[in-house]
Amino acid sequence: MSSTKAVAIVGLTAGLVASGAMVVGFASPWSDGVGAARGEARALATGGSWSLAPLSLGHPAAAATLATRLPASPAALAPALQRPPITFPIEVRTGDTLANLLQGAGVPRPQSHSAIAALRTVYDPRRIRPGQEVLVTFEATDDGTDPGLFVGFSLDVAFARRIAVSRAGEGFAADVVERDLERTLFRGQGTIRSSLFVDGDAAGVPVPVLIEIIRAYSWDVDFQRDIRDGDGFELVYERFTDENGKPVHAGQLVSAKLTLSGKRLAIYRFADKDGATDFFDDNGQSVRKALMRTPIDGARLSSRYGPRRHPILGYTKVHKGIDFAAPQGTPIYAAGNGTVHVAGRNGAYGNYVRIRHNESYSTAYGHLRGIAKGVRKGSRVVQGQVIGYVGTTGRSTGPHLHFEILVAERQVNPLKVKMPSGRKLEGAELERFHAEREVIERAYATLRAPTRLAVSGR
Ligand SMILES: [Zn+2]
Repeated sequence: MSSTKAVAIVGLTAGLVASGAMVVGFASPWSDGVGAARGEARALATGGSWSLAPLSLGHPAAAATLATRLPASPAALAPALQRPPITFPIEVRTGDTLANLLQGAGVPRPQSHSAIAALRTVYDPRRIRPGQEVLVTFEATDDGTDPGLFVGFSLDVAFARRIAVSRAGEGFAADVVERDLERTLFRGQGTIRSSLFVDGDAAGVPVPVLIEIIRAYSWDVDFQRDIRDGDGFELVYERFTDENGKPVHAGQLVSAKLTLSGKRLAIYRFADKDGATDFFDDNGQSVRKALMRTPIDGARLSSRYGPRRHPILGYTKVHKGIDFAAPQGTPIYAAGNGTVHVAGRNGAYGNYVRIRHNESYSTAYGHLRGIAKGVRKGSRVVQGQVIGYVGTTGRSTGPHLHFEILVAERQVNPLKVKMPSGRKLEGAELERFHAEREVIERAYATLRAPTRLAVSGR
């Protein structure tokens, strides 16, 4: 982002959010003090008595009761700012409305209504959520003992977007401020003792990044069976940090190396010349396979491929696909790019879709409650496109997806078949990939892992 923009935002912040020391306080040296301050800001909001001591960083004189105050006389409206305004962070609790939160903080009812009306022009105040923080700003009075005029409030409504409501003429006006967040690379590293999820989280890796890793590796790794105690992970991921260096948002996974039973699997994020982003291995081979083994989210594998006693027919029969139990209506994805070969009723399969992916591979989906719009014989589908919904049509005992992979028109075990690989980078793109990969490797070597305070007993 441009430095002009950063300057503009700093200017705005200084005007609105005021107490610079307070804001810096979040960054950490006084994290205990700030925690206490939040609790006390809350006490204020609920009408408790309030000492400003922990908040007095930079405003020692402001230590006084906030409960008595607000000279609403016209004279007080003159913005004779001799002292910087004072800002209080107030956390939204369950059941709070913005109006009762502001009034609880001492904002007179007409002013809170007017300020909320201004907010409403850009944001619906009913969308505030428990845990969100509202920064409420008052002027300091001349002697500094009382907070003065209500100046405005601000809140973060989305990643990198803050809305600031402040006085404008007789009333209030709202500004949408895009925050200037910085992308910072972090390193995560650890040994798996319990699961990638648990140990990654313990190493400080944000949960969205862990989910991304599991998705990226799911083509090659079965996270329930292939992970062993002692396996390792080394990661580079982004976080977005605010003007004080505080991480405020998880970014994307940049690269990962999993060492599973001594075998190392590395993946790197790379954007191709069309801007499509994917993960590639050391050789520039996409980790995404041409076909997904599990064309459905959050389902439980309920029946494997192979001989089984048929639940309805009662005799042993080879189950030529795998079943995923899932609630009615769960979306089913095309396992790969291809052409729809069959879409409609098909005997015991019920509502059925079959997709031809290439010369040798096809996939089939049975017992669908319904087939997605536009999916009919001859239509093209792309990997991940919703082609239908879980149901229990045909010969079926309950809602599930029956999924088959066919090689040369014959069903094979979807859990065992060697999947056709996805694309491989070539030529200039492969060279660019190798160059970027080098940069990531060097970054990993120089980044420090996030350090955590030792927790006793661990
Ligand atoms: Zn089945």
